[in-house]
Amino acid sequence: MGYTLTRVAYAYDRLRAHPPEVAGQIATAMAGALQTRGEEAVFLELGVGTGRIALPLIARGYRYIALDHDPAMLEVFRQKAAGVMRKVQVLEADARKVPLPDESVHAVIAVHLWHLLPDWPKALAEALRVLKPGGVLLEGWDRVVSEEEWALQEKWRALVEEEGFPVERGLHQRRLKEVEEALRRLGLRPKARQVALWREERTPRESLEALQERLYSFTQRVPQEAHERAMARLWTWAEGTFGDLDRPFTVEKSFHLRVTRLG
Ligand code: SAM
Repeated sequence: MGYTLTRVAYAYDRLRAHPPEVAGQIATAMAGALQTRGEEAVFLELGVGTGRIALPLIARGYRYIALDHDPAMLEVFRQKAAGVMRKVQVLEADARKVPLPDESVHAVIAVHLWHLLPDWPKALAEALRVLKPGGVLLEGWDRVVSEEEWALQEKWRALVEEEGFPVERGLHQRRLKEVEEALRRLGLRPKARQVALWREERTPRESLEALQERLYSFTQRVPQEAHERAMARLWTWAEGTFGDLDRPFTVEKSFHLRVTRLG
């Protein structure tokens, strides 16, 4: 496995990790949505990444199919799950073509995935195909509120635009809405709620590093040279604006879960 890819996978992990109590609240909410009719529950996660959502459920003893198309993410996932892998099946596969039979799992989890797939209807169709009757689609997403973080990201965007590359933001929320509409058109009734709310500290340096590593999906389409030039200017701007890049600011975070039950 390439060192760089694995390093980026770990960096992604640090940025998005949930505090243990939050991870527990999310796992409880997801497990609470299951209806298994006496069978052993089987979860499938599309785009499992490094296992942020999966590991707390696996640790509770659930059978879990961890699917992702990125071997670097799966490598980190395998290392983290090493002690609890007994009931885990790792699938290196595309979420738009899931190598599982129809009606074979009780829950499909999709967290921060749809916006990465221009042809998301294919992945949604696959999720619904592999769910058993009475099974649940569990879609989740984080929200982050922080003036400082927003200021840094918007400055990066302005600098990249000066390089001639317009950047689209807000795709994630728009895509969630599109998926919800698609589910309603199928006669399903998705229900969303906030399942966790917490605060974290972050430094401007950490936010800059996350931008530099392109850990946010909105940064990923900009050509490398333009990104590097914008980043060089952004570090200078941040030093002028924040002074001490290691003085933390507060970030308010929440996690939201949308549950859609089949039949
Ligand atoms: N669900 C995890 C979480 O919330 O921590 C990971 C989210 S991460 C933003 C998205 C993951 O989806 C990445 O690991 C990426 O490799 C994976 N992914 C993107 N497109 C995919 C596809 N077409 N098939 C399978 N996995 C995909």
